[in-house]
Amino acid sequence: MMIVTTFREVRQLNRGRTGLVPTMGFLHEGHISLLEAARTECDHVVMSLFVNPLQFDEAEDLRRYPRDLERDAAIAEQAGVDVILAPGVGEMYPKWPPDTVVKLPAMTAMLEGAFRPGHFDGVATVVTKLLAGAQPDVAYFGRKDGQQLAVVKALVRDLSLPVDVRGLPTIRERDGLALSSRNVFLSPEDRGAALVLSAGLMAAADAIDGGSIDAGAACAIVRDVVSSQPGVQLEYVEMAAQDDVQSADTIERPAFLSLAAKVGDVRLIDNIHIDAAPGGFVADRGVRLDRPSVLYAAADEVSA
Ligand code: AMP
Repeated sequence: MMIVTTFREVRQLNRGRTGLVPTMGFLHEGHISLLEAARTECDHVVMSLFVNPLQFDEAEDLRRYPRDLERDAAIAEQAGVDVILAPGVGEMYPKWPPDTVVKLPAMTAMLEGAFRPGHFDGVATVVTKLLAGAQPDVAYFGRKDGQQLAVVKALVRDLSLPVDVRGLPTIRERDGLALSSRNVFLSPEDRGAALVLSAGLMAAADAIDGGSIDAGAACAIVRDVVSSQPGVQLEYVEMAAQDDVQSADTIERPAFLSLAAKVGDVRLIDNIHIDAAPGGFVADRGVRLDRPSVLYAAADEVSA
């Protein structure tokens, strides 16, 4: 495995069908599932590791975002990554702030876009740069960030970028908590309280799998479960269409039911995707680990 810092080096190493997995590092099984899919489907696997300042709407969140290149390199190597691209801010943004920014206003008016002003301008811009600079054939993203996945698919379509975008299921810890690098900041009590988020979504998934297409009812189920836990402040829970991220009152096309909440001082997001199935719709609840997550292992334990 090679670690490089420039797009030029990445392109020189590309060979055959190249898969790119963009990450902000501090890897867990959510990232690993994307790396393993890339390993299976491609000849050459590139993982980018860049904590993108342009997508952080709060300076404090950027400052404290967990970073550990040694730990990430050990996990990536085990997952079969060929090249890590770990650019500095100067390589990613030769001019700061950049003059060119990619915006998708219609798709980012609700959900995370409404609560994190400018966030998706940063995401769309950095993903466009990663695709242009690393030139992969396939790029892998998680359904965990549902609005982000929709935004990436739309920008690839609208800018005619020659890349296939794959969106893969959310990986959850054994008790249902969606894996996130930010989970390391949860106190044990807050981590326990946070379980109402996935529990609420799973209860809504039961109703949807039972034939309900009422988005309001699904949101109410989530609100009910979450409100049983006073330590969790729900910011929003809403249903939106998967392709254009427009609000949906009834499930008539593939959708996703998303939420964001503050647990202690940690902001978490989660969702279930609702896919078309023969005769109706089916909820994608994600995949649960059957063992503790590597997220809580230190660098020396990871490489052991
Ligand atoms: P991040 O490092 O958080 O920017 O995430 C990098 C990629 O991993 C994004 O495409 C995320 O959607 C994806 N990802 C993050 N957490 C999960 C998860 N729990 N399950 C699946 N994919 C995930």
